[in-house]
Amino acid sequence: MIHIQQLEFRYPHGEFTLRVDELKIESNRKVAIIGPSGSGKTTLLHLLAGIKTPQAGEVHVGETVINQLSTRARRDFRIQRMGLVFQNFELLDYLSVLENILLPFRISPAMQLTREIKQRAADLADRVGMGDKLKRYANRLSQGERQRVAVCRALLGEPKLLLADEPTGNLDPANKNRVLKILTDYADRSGAALVAVTHDHDLLASFDRVIDCKEFQHLPQVTAASEAAS
Ligand code: ADP
Ligand code: MG
Repeated sequence: MIHIQQLEFRYPHGEFTLRVDELKIESNRKVAIIGPSGSGKTTLLHLLAGIKTPQAGEVHVGETVINQLSTRARRDFRIQRMGLVFQNFELLDYLSVLENILLPFRISPAMQLTREIKQRAADLADRVGMGDKLKRYANRLSQGERQRVAVCRALLGEPKLLLADEPTGNLDPANKNRVLKILTDYADRSGAALVAVTHDHDLLASFDRVIDCKEFQHLPQVTAASEAAS
């Protein structure tokens, strides 16, 4: 499903560099990305999603080398093939819960907003305990509620690749387990790959594999000159 080769990424105005010589994630696998704050977990997820593109190397998702697509093609590919739960959820405050869940289907002409999809959106909301708040505007939701809406949106298109950035970060234990179970059940049932960033070591038992972002971090070289200066 995912194959990264010889990837190198750095921010234009920063020192942080991420290097991944090789990383393969098969379909049907649940992978947790761990690592301290600032170790590049979000950056790695954005590279997988094609939100960021590396300076060198390749990111294969299925048969597609996504970093070689145009910006527009990457966006279409992402909307059609991936489900994303962002660290800041990316809900639109002036839309309702239901409209936020349906958003990818509204903004991409490639997605057909059918009666079935609307029903599926309502069913997903029910499963995360948001079924009675479908009409509520997103700016009147708690953080935990926003997060659950973001999870529904990610699952709506039945993606083959599900990427989630700390999907349980702001939730109380009951909702944390509920959201994690929805993500892992979906992956098990659909054969999708799930890649989730988490800080929560209690949750790691639900994953098949744990990747520590520290192994990809490339710290600035300490040269003799900079050591002498310090
Ligand atoms: P994590 O998600 O593991 O906390 P991030 O992937 O967000 O880490 O960030 C990794 C590193 O890249 C951090 O050191 C951060 O300061 C740096 N960084 C993030 N965004 C930018 C940016 N837009 N420009 C420069 N540096 C950035
Ligand atoms: Mg992050």
